[in-house]
Amino acid sequence: MSTFQELGLNQDLLNAITDLGFTKPSEVQEKAIPILLETETDLVALAQTGTGKTAAFGFPMLEKIDVNSRTTQGLILSPTRELCLQITNEMKQYGKYCKGLNVVAIYGGSSIHDQARDVKRGAQIIVATPGRMKDMISRRMVDISKIQYSVLDEADEMLNMGFKEDITDILSHTPEDKNTWLFSATMPREVAAIAKNFMADPQEITVGNKNESTTNVSHEYYMVNARDRYQALKRLADANPDIFSVVFCRTKRDTQRVAEQLIEDGYSAGALHGDLSQNQRDLVMKSFRNKQIQMLVATDVAARGIDVDNITHVINYQLPDEIETYTHRSGRTGRAGRTGVSMVIVSRSETRKIKSIERIIKRKFDKKEVPDGMEICEVQLMALANKIHNTEVNDEIEKYLTNINQLFENTSKDELIKKFFSVEFSRFYNYYQKSKNLNVSEGSRDRESRDDFSKNSNSARYFINVGSKDGFDWMKLKDFLKEVLELGRDDVFKVEVKDSFSFFNTEKDQQEKVLAFFTDYKHEGRFVNVEVSENRGGGRRNDRRGGRRRDDKKGGGFGNRNGRRSNGGDSYSKSRRSESGSREERPRRSRR
Ligand code: AMP
Repeated sequence: MSTFQELGLNQDLLNAITDLGFTKPSEVQEKAIPILLETETDLVALAQTGTGKTAAFGFPMLEKIDVNSRTTQGLILSPTRELCLQITNEMKQYGKYCKGLNVVAIYGGSSIHDQARDVKRGAQIIVATPGRMKDMISRRMVDISKIQYSVLDEADEMLNMGFKEDITDILSHTPEDKNTWLFSATMPREVAAIAKNFMADPQEITVGNKNESTTNVSHEYYMVNARDRYQALKRLADANPDIFSVVFCRTKRDTQRVAEQLIEDGYSAGALHGDLSQNQRDLVMKSFRNKQIQMLVATDVAARGIDVDNITHVINYQLPDEIETYTHRSGRTGRAGRTGVSMVIVSRSETRKIKSIERIIKRKFDKKEVPDGMEICEVQLMALANKIHNTEVNDEIEKYLTNINQLFENTSKDELIKKFFSVEFSRFYNYYQKSKNLNVSEGSRDRESRDDFSKNSNSARYFINVGSKDGFDWMKLKDFLKEVLELGRDDVFKVEVKDSFSFFNTEKDQQEKVLAFFTDYKHEGRFVNVEVSENRGGGRRNDRRGGRRRDDKKGGGFGNRNGRRSNGGDSYSKSRRSESGSREERPRRSRR
């Protein structure tokens, strides 16, 4: 293992490194810095975020550029605004003793004229997102015709985000003889093609294996029925009281929905996705960084460039469509030498994907059981006990002690401890005492799936007076219900379409919302009726209501409607429902 001095960095950079507290180079720095300092070469480096790659290209670039010239000599392209700002900030810190250095960030969502003005003042290094860079080139606000070093950071992400054409266009404005340094966590074909087309005989370095996940991260999966995903998520959070996590969902809508539900259930959660304004996203990220948010629920695109070092858990609420994306997700934890856990909640049908991911990341997953309610109660109790044990006494309490002592005069220490802990413990205990086992096993498909619908008191089955005559098959009906009820992909299940009517299931706690919505809903000019069915799904059909259609009049007495039309957002109840379906007081989570 070398030192930073041995890598050949100059004194200005070494002083900055000392200030930053970096004691030794990371693997990617040890491999890349000597190559980039000693040779004028192109480079392909396979390295995850969090491995210190910014410094791996940043130090050599800072060492090589001429700070006495105002010409732009280095260009760093990065996929997101967040990452762009992060790199700019790091470069400024690394170059804090390089007198005359000017690093400018160029990204969308901020004044293009301010950025053009900053560049005009003489930026030796520009850090940019591709879209804004291209825009500024076409408006002649930047000149990159003399750059000597270009970096494509998180190249796989940039290509994933559809920046290929922008990158090609930008590079066409740069000199042929510049050096290009490409950094990527994974090496899909598209990245290899960029390396082939835009680089001359690049040197290659790999930190770990290609696509391989960092060894600091352990990988776990939890197998549940698809519709128990949310319950499983809550249990994983409750079983880890100090969790500080990113929860990944596949779509913006699921992201919003899961975050809202978590907030409603008393967790400190926030949503991060592309439908939020930049300002909203900045606020969420600020709260997350300050740890006011413990669970950041995010889409893959929005989470790109999250540079928070101490994330303890990544939770894959749903697996990504592209398996390679898993590497990026899990790379959000285990950064800067820390350890982390990447958890995946899967349904039985997704276990194949786990095997494929294992092949890609070259690491094995541990199959874990979702903790049962009593385990969680114990974990929470012990977390509280430890917290109290480690709490420093506030002397201000002294003046209230006489009254408190009087109150507990006849209470023994044992009794007092029990009472004291019961305040917190009872909330979790009441919530979890009737909780079911969420785990399913790979081998028990048939029996379990029958049980899901025939016995599971958590689901409600409905009759709906539309069927194949109305142009529905099960898929269309499921899509229709998901759409109008604003439910997620797992929330409507066991859809059975008949001629003029159909059946479907939702979780029981959606029942009120479902019935309320269909009190006065018209589809193609006629009222749609929904009522709770006695048919629990599978087997015997409840055809009694088969011919019953209500085409002509509004209102009318199907089911236990409350006449209120749900608008999705206000349908969440203010009190928490227990997993077994009954209402109860929400176990308020103590802020940690
Ligand atoms: P990066 O992979 O560039 O996003 O870096 C991840 C984090 O590691 C950043 O917060 C860096 O400041 C930090 N870092 C980079 N190099 C080192 C090093 N040699 N020792 C300790 N921390 C480092």
